[in-house]
Amino acid sequence: MSRGLLRRSIYKSPAQLRLMLAPGLAAADALAAMADAVRPGVTPLELDAIAERAVRDAGGAPNFMLEPGYRHTICANVNENVVHSIPVDRPLEPGDIVSLDVGAVLGGWHSDAAITVAIPDPARPDRTEAIERLSHVTEQAMWRGIARLATAAHLNEVGEAVAEYVHANSDYGILEDYIGHGIGRRMHEDPPVFNVPVSRRGPEVRPGLVVAIEPIISAGGIDTVVEDDDWTVSMADGSLSAQWEHSVAVHSGGIWVLTAPDGGAAGLAPLGITPVPIA
Ligand code: MG
Repeated sequence: MSRGLLRRSIYKSPAQLRLMLAPGLAAADALAAMADAVRPGVTPLELDAIAERAVRDAGGAPNFMLEPGYRHTICANVNENVVHSIPVDRPLEPGDIVSLDVGAVLGGWHSDAAITVAIPDPARPDRTEAIERLSHVTEQAMWRGIARLATAAHLNEVGEAVAEYVHANSDYGILEDYIGHGIGRRMHEDPPVFNVPVSRRGPEVRPGLVVAIEPIISAGGIDTVVEDDDWTVSMADGSLSAQWEHSVAVHSGGIWVLTAPDGGAAGLAPLGITPVPIA
């Protein structure tokens, strides 16, 4: 029988979910190391090296390097650079907002996660407030999406929760061309995870579903352009942008955020959801 005719289920077995814990924690380590290191004067390229060390110390390997032509552990999206940005050696400055996206592969299983860091500029309180608020709304939109996954019947309810929160709390734009995804043996798998309501309900949410939930939010319009390096995507109108992402597993006991050391407990507590460790 042709392997190409086999349709792999999007649902993982309990044993497979357990194998996704280690790559999740490797990405969590990299996020923590980068969050600890971000300050004015640090370059995205230095953060890339810090993330690679954390992933390798955890026994994993950077999986973004498996994308043909990509040679880095992270994408570092500064200000109007919104996604897939090659880390550069320009030092970060006060007033910058940078999203740091990292993934790991360990034992053949993948993780994918991102944080945004707003670097305060004491000389520009308005700028500081703007970047902190953009990051906060984006992070909270992600947690709303993750919380909805815990109770949803169908996956596309996640995008409803994300959009509901963003629109109720801001006039920010939600990028529609960049979406979350299933994750497992490959970093990008079915099903797509939308950040806005769509007409289809999406697959059933049940044990074995593992998805990366990753809203990307702009302070202005939602149109993007690809830079000359053929990777870096920037906002067409130059507006600021933010991204937060976690890889999340649905299992028989509940949900568990694979890329957070606490399984998402701190982020989900205000929303009344308690993550349950994968047995
Ligand atoms: Mg992703």
